[in-house]
Amino acid sequence: MAATTETLEFQAETRQLLQLVIHSIYSNKDIFLRELISNASDALDKLRLESLTDSDLEVDTSDLHITLEVDKEARTLTVRDNGIGMTREDVVDLIGTIAKSGTAGLLAKIKEAKDADAAQSLIGQFGVGFYSAFMVADKVTLQTRRAGTEQGTVWESDGEGTYTIAPADGLPVGTSVTLHLKPEDGEDGLGDYLAAWKIRQIVKQYSDFIRWPIRMATEPVSADAESGTADEATSVPETLNSMKALWARPRSEVTETEYSEFYQQISHDWQAPAETIHMRAEGTFEYEALLFIPAHAPFDLFSRDTRRGVQLYVKRVFIMDDCDALMPNYLRFVKGVVDAHDLSLNVSREILQHDRQITAVRRRLVKKVLTAVKDLQTKNSETYTKVWEQFGRVLKEGLIEDRDNTDTLLELVSAASTHDAEKATTLREYVARMREGQDTIYYLTGENRAMVENSPHMEAFAAKGYEVLILTDPVDEVWTDQIPAFDGHRFQSIAKGQVDLDNDADSDGSDEAKADKAQREQDFAALLAWLQTTLAEHVKQVRLSTRLTTSAACLVGDAHDLTPTLEKMYRAMGQELPQVKRILELNPTHPLITALHQAHQAGADDPTLADIAELVHGSALLAEGGDLPDPARFTRLLTDRLTHAL
Ligand code: ADP
Ligand code: MG
Repeated sequence: MAATTETLEFQAETRQLLQLVIHSIYSNKDIFLRELISNASDALDKLRLESLTDSDLEVDTSDLHITLEVDKEARTLTVRDNGIGMTREDVVDLIGTIAKSGTAGLLAKIKEAKDADAAQSLIGQFGVGFYSAFMVADKVTLQTRRAGTEQGTVWESDGEGTYTIAPADGLPVGTSVTLHLKPEDGEDGLGDYLAAWKIRQIVKQYSDFIRWPIRMATEPVSADAESGTADEATSVPETLNSMKALWARPRSEVTETEYSEFYQQISHDWQAPAETIHMRAEGTFEYEALLFIPAHAPFDLFSRDTRRGVQLYVKRVFIMDDCDALMPNYLRFVKGVVDAHDLSLNVSREILQHDRQITAVRRRLVKKVLTAVKDLQTKNSETYTKVWEQFGRVLKEGLIEDRDNTDTLLELVSAASTHDAEKATTLREYVARMREGQDTIYYLTGENRAMVENSPHMEAFAAKGYEVLILTDPVDEVWTDQIPAFDGHRFQSIAKGQVDLDNDADSDGSDEAKADKAQREQDFAALLAWLQTTLAEHVKQVRLSTRLTTSAACLVGDAHDLTPTLEKMYRAMGQELPQVKRILELNPTHPLITALHQAHQAGADDPTLADIAELVHGSALLAEGGDLPDPARFTRLLTDRLTHAL
């Protein structure tokens, strides 16, 4: 046979790429097995297809499978398939050459790349496939025979400059790739690739859903045994993969129990999901997606580095967890699998982020998930309520992050309201209940429900029967600031700007009422001016209020001012902010305010009046759950006043 062995040189570019592989551009060496199994799986697919289309091809396709064989003595690991195999020409063309375009350019860029990460992400565009074997092996032997031919071929290389190729007789149909593992140097853990547990683990992680059985032969199996000429193999080999790629099956053939079990397997959840989304996209970019909306939130949903729940597969080969290119941050609770057919196995996160097709897939998936939640809302309100309870806070981040879906997200929003203490409302329901002439959606944000409900700002709205949304999630502070309207109805914080309920239908908007109001403002002008000077350190304006019925005073902001909660949030995040001064509104019909008014008219420089002004401001702050600038001083002033009064 030596006489017919030829030694050939690798193409220059192939050689350079091999050098990169050998000097390990990958931090994760385990992936070599994924690559070889994926090639074997492709070869089995091809053989089956060819046997269906070419009736002359005499091959046995009754037991297509992949076998992994370990020889500890020889330190070899063999990946064997009984698939399509290769002719000698195939081997030279496919294995000896990199027939892919752009190799030279890629190599040049890799040389310029500053670090291993950058190099790895570049190489991801490419996929080293078969050559990844050289990360762990210092010699690779490939034996193969093409289905429908008699002559086998042996190819061997150490991955340096050359390879040998020779004909071989008596080979079974299919391909075997034998890796002569590099000597262990302690750190690499290369010895592990001979260990059954390690092989099991890698197969489980990367190749569990490959549709052909991946078997591990516990005893070395000879080529003769495979071709069936020797005695029957003694022990039944262990199948390592589950092969259960549910997403690849038509929806009609999968049971709810199977979906649920699959979900639990990938999510490590112990409950069934709230909703399952299963889809297949055909056309230029084919993929299948199987996504789940969990029934409950994980404990770390709001921690800084929560991972996204979507895994990426390429033709049933696991590529990565936490595929952020496929799901926006605000849908991080969605779990599942996307199996794209036309990506390289080595595709990197970086490349995915910039891939136009992936962006299109993501857009489609987002729409699917939002539609699923919307459908729950209309068809299964109990589940919708649960989903919203668990994930509403996260979904609302979408109002800030995802402007493409603002309208859909607003339809999904469910909020507590003054309309019904027990039941949350959607915005659509709110709008349906709006009073005649009302065109704005009133809301108030705050830290908790009780605080918002008891806030003085609510008074006039409650008195006049206007419904107010009670928004208590931190994210509410932000989105209400950014989204102007729902379905043409403006959002209006009742703690911001001027509230003019008098313009609404049922109130008395007569000329007489307007004249009264003007008169009152004139009466109070001197007091307001004096208060504004006295409290200048704390407030930017003092004015009369139309929103109070029982309280003496409240604090409000201008339309574009930060709310106190938001201000607190920013400060907690370490942001430097100038002090946000608010507006003090007084209730001109309250006895304290009328008395203050009179006292001020009688003798404007009474020093106790300044103390009372401060107390009015402090009480307004306390009433809305705010923090006093100087609690000790407030308490002292209050104690003095009380002592005086007794
Ligand atoms: P890719 O799989 O992306 O094409 P690889 O480097 O992994 O790149 O493999 C190169 C080619 O070698 C494959 O496309 C296939 O034609 C051939 N090949 C590799 N392994 C096998 C195998 N086990 N059986 C048949 N052909 C194979
Ligand atoms: Mg491959």
